[in-house]
Amino acid sequence: MESLDALTSLVAGGGVVVLSGAGLSTESGIPDYRGPSGVARRHTPMTFQAFTRDPLARRRYWARSHLGWRLIGGAAPNAGHRAVAELQRAGLVDTVITQNVDGLHGAAGSTSVIELHGRLDEVTCLDCGNLTSREELDRRLREANPDFVARVAGVNPDGDVDLPDEQVAAFRPVDCGICGTGMVKPDVVFFGETVPPQRVTRCFAAVEQARSVLVLGSSLTVMSGRRFVIRAAKRGIPVAIVNQGPTRGDGHATVCVDAPLGVVLPQVAARVGAGTPLGV
Ligand SMILES: [Zn+2]
Repeated sequence: MESLDALTSLVAGGGVVVLSGAGLSTESGIPDYRGPSGVARRHTPMTFQAFTRDPLARRRYWARSHLGWRLIGGAAPNAGHRAVAELQRAGLVDTVITQNVDGLHGAAGSTSVIELHGRLDEVTCLDCGNLTSREELDRRLREANPDFVARVAGVNPDGDVDLPDEQVAAFRPVDCGICGTGMVKPDVVFFGETVPPQRVTRCFAAVEQARSVLVLGSSLTVMSGRRFVIRAAKRGIPVAIVNQGPTRGDGHATVCVDAPLGVVLPQVAARVGAGTPLGV
């Protein structure tokens, strides 16, 4: 495949900055609500404004999130994540910028990961700033809602279906363990919230130093990620996109590969000699 050859030679040149999105984690069982293969988004996403102003919205968020965490907390990295880590160990990939909040790049062994939209496995208190692990919060939520998951799991196969109002009403969110208020929020960037400027600056700096930018599994629908592709193109830095379906960055790309990431990335890693087990 001609595009696979072009992709391979770009990666072999080193100095690659990866920009990954939800499509990279679908093979780990995490649904991509935006992607063409994902189920249609049935909810308008929770906004930061609704979350902070409306206690009922917060209760609804935590009830749904408590179910969704069963899926995300138990997910493992797939062949695509592992190939990225192998390319990094081979010295070909420098920084990994990810729009995903699942922590799977780190779990696969990647380093220098910038988590653009934060991490779902960390929880912050908006009042006192206390940072705790989701695991700890999950333990407290399970204690406060002992049979909640078992009761509603049957009607919530993907963790993102409408919860009936009576189920939401029965859910008991927990307060911050330190200051005792109810304003605990996963340490992720909500809609209506901006990415911390320092984090964006670090991403732009990485992109500008890159020899190429490799987009993995993002339709680049939102400007939050697309701006890095636009910047690279403006600076004459080649952009390669591996995604299932067209993306809003295709016009800026020198190479587009429309194929499953878990197939393409291990092939690229093998072709450039990364990922060969030690001693072989
Ligand atoms: Zn607090």
